[in-house]
Amino acid sequence: MVNISLIPAFQDNYIWLLTNNNQAVVVDPGQAAPVEQVLAERELTLTSILITHHHHDHTGGVKALLANWPHAKVYAPANKPLPALGAIAVNDGDKVTLPELGMEFEVMAVPGHTLDHIAYIEPNGVAGEPLLFCGDTLFSGGCGRLFEGTPEQMHRSLTRFAALPDNTRVYCAHEYTQSNLAFCHAVEPNNAELQKYLQKVAKLRQQGIPTVPSSIGQEKAINVFLRTHLDSVRASTEAHAGAELDEYIKVFAALRRWKDDF
Ligand SMILES: [Zn+2]
Repeated sequence: MVNISLIPAFQDNYIWLLTNNNQAVVVDPGQAAPVEQVLAERELTLTSILITHHHHDHTGGVKALLANWPHAKVYAPANKPLPALGAIAVNDGDKVTLPELGMEFEVMAVPGHTLDHIAYIEPNGVAGEPLLFCGDTLFSGGCGRLFEGTPEQMHRSLTRFAALPDNTRVYCAHEYTQSNLAFCHAVEPNNAELQKYLQKVAKLRQQGIPTVPSSIGQEKAINVFLRTHLDSVRASTEAHAGAELDEYIKVFAALRRWKDDF
């Protein structure tokens, strides 16, 4: 049985740790030291590393981890600095088989935050719930900033996530939920599901408890970036932008700009 836990890194990054017996897989190790500490405490062997995109806070620990675990395999987009670290380049439609977990991940290209961004999906998942490791593309209540890609690319990437089963667990790479929800509330002040979730998240954060993983069903109910097709989101985005937004993609682009200044 695969166990999934998180290792906090930097200010608000989460490095996801998947274990089965004493074998360990990590996703986006931006730092090596906190990972090594957990591996030592739990007497785990690092076997594989999955990378979602090239940003340093997702890749900075790879080199040091490989120095200690030379047999670990790294799966990553074909983008600097990862090939230099011996990573196996993967892209949309590829499969990553991890026999140590008894799992097979499907790779989905999800450009937007960066052009090289990929996500890893395990359709069978754990306890019948599929798994999505989405890096900085989707957050609970938000989506990644558009550092490299276009609004069209990000909208398409999020639309592909939204088509996953509702019970898909969403393992994002940052604890941004509370500030994201403040923005969602500004956009949709009358969303009852959002108000419930706001309260739940506030309680968790007061106790220092992570708010993730979320689920695709939860995000479709509260995350305005997955709700640009709804009149409520369009109307308030039009009011903020002071312009008519007659296509979903225009709503999405204006919403992302609004969030950047929020
Ligand atoms: Zn990033």
